[in-house]
Amino acid sequence: MRSLSHPNVYAAGDSVYTIGDNGRPLPMSCASAGFTGMQAMKAIVGSLTGSKTANVKLSYPGNHISLGRRDGILQMVDQEAQAKPKYVGGRKAARIKAGIVRMSLWTTSHPTFGLPKRKHHLAAAQNGAAARVAA
Ligand SMILES: Cc1cc2nc3c(=O)[nH]c(=O)nc-3n(C[C@H](O)[C@H](O)[C@H](O)COP(=O)(O)OP(=O)(O)OC[C@H]3O[C@@H](n4cnc5c(N)ncnc54)[C@H](O)[C@@H]3O)c2cc1C
Repeated sequence: MRSLSHPNVYAAGDSVYTIGDNGRPLPMSCASAGFTGMQAMKAIVGSLTGSKTANVKLSYPGNHISLGRRDGILQMVDQEAQAKPKYVGGRKAARIKAGIVRMSLWTTSHPTFGLPKRKHHLAAAQNGAAARVAA
């Protein structure tokens, strides 16, 4: 998630062009934003603490679309983003989607909920500033 041309810049979400494990660009989506955000955060923490940056595993279980309040589809997909036979349709899929949207709204209005506790210490300071170590 670190810019190749500007190593001090980290990017995540819709703003990045990055290739996934399957050799294809990550789709612009909430899931990609979450994964790339976590990876950028780990890379920054690794850089500030001098620790190794773990890879965030990409996992896209399905595509979910609501069609109004009463219809929708939750289509499960494989690692190649190909549809699997399994899906949830109709009102149930629309209800699940409505729950996800409600949850997104809640988390957006409670941005500090679930913030992680500090687990790593900053690397020893050099010239009065935190040491910078490539992630
Ligand atoms: C109508 C719509 C429906 C969608 N439905 C789905 C869906 O069902 N499933 C799905 O997976 N994806 C969906 N997406 C795509 C999904 O919303 C995006 O992929 C995801 O939000 C990208 O996250 P992000 O954090 O990169 O960017 P954003 O969520 O766009 O966050 C960027 C933030 O940066 C802020 N910002 C911009 N400029 C500045 C600045 N100069 N200074 C400070 N802050 C700034 C913005 O206000 C915004 O809050 C949908 C998108 C749209 C528009």
